[in-house]
Amino acid sequence: MNVTYSCAQCGRTVRADVAPDADSLACPQCQAEVALPADALSGGQLNRCLICPSTDLFVRKAFPQRLGVTIVAVGILASCVTWYFAEVVATFAILFATALVDVVLYLIVPDALMCYRCGALYRRTEGTGDHGPFNLETHERHRQQAARMAGQE
Ligand SMILES: [Zn+2]
Ligand SMILES: [Zn+2]
Repeated sequence: MNVTYSCAQCGRTVRADVAPDADSLACPQCQAEVALPADALSGGQLNRCLICPSTDLFVRKAFPQRLGVTIVAVGILASCVTWYFAEVVATFAILFATALVDVVLYLIVPDALMCYRCGALYRRTEGTGDHGPFNLETHERHRQQAARMAGQE
């Protein structure tokens, strides 16, 4: 399993491997260590976030958003060119191919877990456990909590 998270010490977004029996995680940039809670992993399953105290995680595709946007943008651009040259069949072929590439990528890209509270992303976990897909209510609860904490400081 590996985790992409924002390091509390150096502020950078870093990616680190987590061994199943590891008890701490070191930032690859500044070597700041995060102690891993003992109850976080059971049988390879992630029960809670390793970086922050939150137990709320949601399932999402570990799909680089930029790649998805690029594919769609290239598809639209190419179809505009063919549309301009009145190539109707080519235009629809390109749009169809773009949609197909997105669907295929969606199917082959594995699931990942993301923390509502700190945004840490866990890839190559052993399944997704009891965690469900993104829930707006949970997200809102965490957002309000973060806003309250920021207000107190
Ligand atoms: Zn760091
Ligand atoms: Zn977290």
